[in-house]
Amino acid sequence: STAPSGEPWIATAVQGEGCDIFWPCIDSPHGEPGRVDLHITVPSDLSAPSNGRFLGKVDHGDGWTTWNWTAKSPNTYAIALNVGPYEEIAGEYRSRFGNTIPMAYWHLKSDTPEQVQALFAQFPKMLDFFEATVGPYPFGDEKMGVVETPHLGMEHQTINAYGNGYKIDGRGYDWLLQHEFAHEWFGNQLTNQNADDMWLHEGLGSYMQPLYARWLLGDRYMQRELANQREGLINKYPVVSGTPKTEDEVYKGDVGPGNDIYSKGSLISHSLRMLIGDAAFHEAITRLVYGRPDPRPGNFAPLYRSTGDFLEIVNAVTGQDYGWFFRGYLYNAALPVLMQTREGGVLRLEWATGDGGVFPMPLEVEIDGAVQVVAMTGGRGQVAVPGDAHVLIDPQNKVLRQMDVIDELQAYKAAQKPK
Ligand SMILES: [Zn+2]
Repeated sequence: STAPSGEPWIATAVQGEGCDIFWPCIDSPHGEPGRVDLHITVPSDLSAPSNGRFLGKVDHGDGWTTWNWTAKSPNTYAIALNVGPYEEIAGEYRSRFGNTIPMAYWHLKSDTPEQVQALFAQFPKMLDFFEATVGPYPFGDEKMGVVETPHLGMEHQTINAYGNGYKIDGRGYDWLLQHEFAHEWFGNQLTNQNADDMWLHEGLGSYMQPLYARWLLGDRYMQRELANQREGLINKYPVVSGTPKTEDEVYKGDVGPGNDIYSKGSLISHSLRMLIGDAAFHEAITRLVYGRPDPRPGNFAPLYRSTGDFLEIVNAVTGQDYGWFFRGYLYNAALPVLMQTREGGVLRLEWATGDGGVFPMPLEVEIDGAVQVVAMTGGRGQVAVPGDAHVLIDPQNKVLRQMDVIDELQAYKAAQKPK
């Protein structure tokens, strides 16, 4: 690509194609090298920000300069080359965990300074949120790094690609920056065992945006994002198949779950948080990401996780078996359907899942303004309702399920599309 000021503007992004397209590596999630040293020689008027810690640059005096970097335990697809007419804006973040984290953003020289400043001002706020919600920034001894790219974005470890063009969309933060930054925890610190578990990156990573909206602006902003995610669900392939997959088989919606690993993964995470509560959810996420409940800078290293690991952790933290929750939501393509019949002053409720498995998801039911919890033991429940009472199921929309209103909207939109 060419920068607006005319110089070359180069970026790499190899998720899918694999790291072996441009550097010697083992092209598997399990191929994480202990350390990668990068020596990138570029024309001296350009910059080459990259992964890990900066070890200085050497000007060869012939118009070329070598930039030297070293990165610990990088995710294989997270090694990236970025070359362009960049300027760096840098600062330091004082973590709640006692360490100081360098922050750096390499942006095009031609960018509007106010937009650059406004984006950079979001860095410490996002660090606040993630360190409180998940735990320590995993690469604090290297940097929080972001580089402007000609493509939309990618979770390159400590050098996140940002190509969202400083868009203002009313969310109160830059969603692309926040999503890619979430992958430092869900993707680079926690790496999936297999692409079949990719929702651990993209689903938990996509839940961080609604949670961040709540952190900044309150429930209305979180619910709006969750509602937007809900409208896009496909439910054609299960989020997790239970057999090893390639990245293409997961990311492509015609052969696998596609976008559901993002939005459905996020909504499943929300329902899990509503079911087990904030404290248990936080502890489960912390153990999942760090392998311990008390992560501190220096006492953890990147690890591999599967969907089964997550279930084991949730069970250990809660002392209950949530196999039905994982099976019902993740291993079935169809969403659970709530069947309702109301007669003789009784409302009967029953869950139906794709594989017919028992789904004992409790439900709040509001009857003329008073909320009761129906336990749904064995996937069934009932509650007394006076003949003329107004009944509202799940008034806070905690439970992900099939909804007629969404099916009607999706059918309508599909019919509007030009053939
Ligand atoms: Zn992502």
